[in-house]
Amino acid sequence: MVILMSEGLKWFQCPVCKESIHWKLPEDDLKKVKRFPAPIVIRHKDHYLICYLDSHYQLADTEIATSFVEGKSKE
Ligand SMILES: [Zn+2]
Repeated sequence: MVILMSEGLKWFQCPVCKESIHWKLPEDDLKKVKRFPAPIVIRHKDHYLICYLDSHYQLADTEIATSFVEGKSKE
């Protein structure tokens, strides 16, 4: 029997510290997204990650956001 995770909940292995990260899909924000893949920024401990979600809200890619903190306030 396959046990599915609760809807909207995603997880992946953190590329920085190798821990499993569980996070809730920001569905309200995703409804406003017009172009996919959509970058979702996740803060994990002292580092930031960018997850790219495709139009089916599947994880397309993850990336370590090294310069996110500096660029955030300008956007
Ligand atoms: Zn981490």
